[in-house]
Amino acid sequence: MSTKARPGFPAKLDLPAPGKGRSLSQPGVSPIAAKPLTAKAVMPQPLAPLAAKPKAVLPPSRVQPPATAPRGLGLDSAAVRAAMVNKLAAQGVSDARVLGAMGQVERHRFVDSALAIQAYEDTSLPIGLGQTISKPGVVSRMIELLLEVHPDKPKRLLEIGTGCGYQAAVLAKVATEVFSMERLRGLHEKARENLRPLRVPNLHLILGDGMLGYPQGAPYSGIIAAAGGEAVPQAWIDQLAVGGRLVAPVSQGGNQQALMVLDKTPQGIEQRLLEAVLFVPLKSGIA
Ligand code: SAH
Repeated sequence: MSTKARPGFPAKLDLPAPGKGRSLSQPGVSPIAAKPLTAKAVMPQPLAPLAAKPKAVLPPSRVQPPATAPRGLGLDSAAVRAAMVNKLAAQGVSDARVLGAMGQVERHRFVDSALAIQAYEDTSLPIGLGQTISKPGVVSRMIELLLEVHPDKPKRLLEIGTGCGYQAAVLAKVATEVFSMERLRGLHEKARENLRPLRVPNLHLILGDGMLGYPQGAPYSGIIAAAGGEAVPQAWIDQLAVGGRLVAPVSQGGNQQALMVLDKTPQGIEQRLLEAVLFVPLKSGIA
């Protein structure tokens, strides 16, 4: 891990073997995957009653702060996120859009209540099914890189690896529209549940193999991957708009990964490798 330039950034733990190949022979996105979850789908049936009688409809865990994260601990207070944002700024994140979004999204709502107390530490945490929520330092670093080529609000972003939905929620604050793909049904559902009370109409959750991208939303101003493969799938490059940027962890052999930044310019593809990172593997297919 290259802790030289950015000590806080090297990323994720909980890493089994690298991704199992990149079988692009995947028969295609499943019927569910082929259909983006529209605003309605992100916040399904209970929506209408929700506005009228929230307490009757919201799951109990959302109505009452979990036992391990009582209000007394301050997780609901903006101050706890402001402290995290200050640390991110001290680590070198300077884009006000990113810092603003990181200050707004309540990370503790995306992790199990038993872990909520650690939600504002710069650490990755388990989210089930062997996956992890990325460290705030990594999330903000990658989004800042993504926005670097977009002084104006990017139109459409694609995220590979919804996980618990945290980064997707942050992305939805900085872009007009966000498409986020997850290959594990359990996490796709969990993200939907986590995001429902937040009402994020510009975020579409898709159950599908992110290695194929999501052509229905293309071209994307930016693509961000939260899982690392052997190489960047061609589909991502194809679905990136000219002028767009892709930020993804890419395997460097063994358990080594580096952050890749790839720009699609009118002159062609430009790519560079940045610091070492550690993400869960990019896998193909839906499970
Ligand atoms: N951004 C997430 C991080 C989740 S970890 C968060 O904020 O919580 C990375 C996720 O990528 C895992 O949930 C994993 O299942 C998913 N993933 C791995 N390969 C994938 C693929 N081909 N398509 C979609 N998701 C994938």
